[in-house]
Amino acid sequence: MNILIVEDEKRLADALSHILLEQKNIVDVVHDGADGLAYAESGIYDCIILDVMLPSMNGFDVCLELRRKKIMTPVLMLTAKDTITDKVKGLDAGADDYMTKPFSPEELLARLRVLTRRRGEVILDEMRYGDIVLHIDSSTLSCKNSDKKIHLNFKECEMLKAFLSKPNVIISKQDLIVKIWGYDSDACDNNVEAYVSFLRKKLTFVGSQLEIQSIKKLGYKLSTKQ
Ligand code: CA
Repeated sequence: MNILIVEDEKRLADALSHILLEQKNIVDVVHDGADGLAYAESGIYDCIILDVMLPSMNGFDVCLELRRKKIMTPVLMLTAKDTITDKVKGLDAGADDYMTKPFSPEELLARLRVLTRRRGEVILDEMRYGDIVLHIDSSTLSCKNSDKKIHLNFKECEMLKAFLSKPNVIISKQDLIVKIWGYDSDACDNNVEAYVSFLRKKLTFVGSQLEIQSIKKLGYKLSTKQ
């Protein structure tokens, strides 16, 4: 998942980020409310962990503004405030859940799982298109026309998921960077090109009739070989 953490206590933000990265999420961290709103408005996140007491704009206002702009990304409010009034205020502002500090990492992860499930996202075991199957649990690519299977690393798997969710559609390098490396990354076109090249080799290895085509100046698309 792609997760945004908006938390001004840097040690807590780092700890959260560490827990979520260990679970193979893509994480962006910002330390004030206005930055949080700007990042969240991109709409690329699967979930936002939002502190209430923040510099420049509080979490209630960030959440209200997001919902006003019809950005419905699930929000988990995380705060030291634990009075009923504050909980109600958070939920009224459009937060989906509310946790008070201190909290256990296990509880945080469990709540994130519920939030992202509640959104109606189907957690897929596999994705299929053409002659290929991507087995998500095992990060394995297989081809219906051969017995060959190959393991994909995390970023290859994320990239193939992006292509499989939009087959035959051109995806820009920038969109791939945001999807795979996160909004705030230093990744560049060369990183995308490298991973496209790895994926092409793996598609060839399993004997697929699909290929990742380069579309000049626009990006890439997954299609059947011409
Ligand atoms: Ca705070």
